[in-house]
Amino acid sequence: MSACTNEPTARALVVRTARSLFTRGLTHGSTGNLSVRLSDGSLLLTPTGSSLGTVEEGELSRTDLGGRHLDGPRPTKEAFLHAAFYRARPDAHAVVHLHSTHAAAVSCLDGLDPGNALPPLTAYYAMRVGTLPLLPYHAPGDSTLEPLAERTARDHHAVLLANHGPVIAGASLEQAADAIEELEETAKLHLLLQGHATRPLTPEQAAALAPTSP
Ligand code: ZN
Repeated sequence: MSACTNEPTARALVVRTARSLFTRGLTHGSTGNLSVRLSDGSLLLTPTGSSLGTVEEGELSRTDLGGRHLDGPRPTKEAFLHAAFYRARPDAHAVVHLHSTHAAAVSCLDGLDPGNALPPLTAYYAMRVGTLPLLPYHAPGDSTLEPLAERTARDHHAVLLANHGPVIAGASLEQAADAIEELEETAKLHLLLQGHATRPLTPEQAAALAPTSP
């Protein structure tokens, strides 16, 4: 999806992607939320309390770039994180946040590097995610996290929320969804490899593949 995608197309894409993520077990219950930036600069988000498995095109919320509710149902209470990413990354047109099991499990590990929570185990991870800063634990919906999220998002399109899950921005919803799936698979590999001597990509190998903006 490009910046100029019209709203009906954007609504259909959000619902299709939400269902795909839910039916493949990448999120559960009423967790996880998606958004896209519309051509007028407003944000289209999944609403609060909805399941990504059943949300409908007519049930999406719209906010401005400050996270203020414009129309539709009330947005996800994590809307402030989406807005922070869009403000920090003018080229980003989509944001995906999931509580996917393996990434959430990694976010609960002790001793994570706050500058990069996952090693670059595979080339595709290095290409689609790159560096993954860890943001400290805040209760869901606690918007005191917003300034730090916005500052971090200026330099990173992906972050991991401690004891919670990942947030990833992309140039399109397809790209953001691909990246968050790659993160989930790499988190799974990382957990499978606990206790095994592991050789991630070297910093040079990872840097050569690092994603560019957004
Ligand atoms: Zn969440």
